[in-house]
Amino acid sequence: MVIRLKKLLTVLACAVLAITLLACGMGVVMAIDTRTDDYVPIRQLDPEKPMVALTFDDGPYGPVTKRIVKALQEVGGRATFFVVGSRIEGREESIRMIADAGCEFGNHTYDHVNLRSRGSTSISEQLKKTDEALEKVVGRRTTVLRPPGGTYSKNLSTLTDLPIVLWTIDTMDWSHQNCARSVKRVLDNVHDGDIILMHDLFLPTAEAAEKVIVALTEQGYQLVTVSELLAYRDSVDGILVKNDG
Ligand SMILES: [Zn+2]
Repeated sequence: MVIRLKKLLTVLACAVLAITLLACGMGVVMAIDTRTDDYVPIRQLDPEKPMVALTFDDGPYGPVTKRIVKALQEVGGRATFFVVGSRIEGREESIRMIADAGCEFGNHTYDHVNLRSRGSTSISEQLKKTDEALEKVVGRRTTVLRPPGGTYSKNLSTLTDLPIVLWTIDTMDWSHQNCARSVKRVLDNVHDGDIILMHDLFLPTAEAAEKVIVALTEQGYQLVTVSELLAYRDSVDGILVKNDG
């Protein structure tokens, strides 16, 4: 009798677990990040609809970063922020806003260094220090990496498990700091699967991002993180190393 009861309880427990898993799966697809054992939420997206990954480098910088995050939240979009580790302390509010909006953190080194000019130990240190600074604020690590200036040495992929991400559309916002030019650059060139490079350091970039976020959403684009793009597309241009484990 005791054995039967035990069996029944086990069956019941399995059924409850199965129903729970099914219910969770219907809402959000979760991918386990094996590098950190953290969960990286990958949303349920429509693979038939176009996707674009907006990416912002060199921040955070409150007056710009916060405007971009707000604009994304208004349309239910997400983006990837390639943060500079040394800029995290003192700008915790921006970091928390990025995390709360479900956006992704990318590693852009601690001191924005040219990785081609650094040895292995220094590179590893730069990446680790950025993760430590981020973890202190939001308990998360970066999940993608972009080398500053897009410069890297051949051995970079041996020093990290993260996907190494470049871009397919460069707005050159840092150079011209002109809202209209950044917007035009994106809207004239955008296609499904693009990774767009901007910098959340300049006010004209905040304005451009606000316009681009609205325009792309109106055109039917899903605004996604780089990791979401990698999860939903078999091949993604602008990715140097996929490192998908
Ligand atoms: Zn940079």
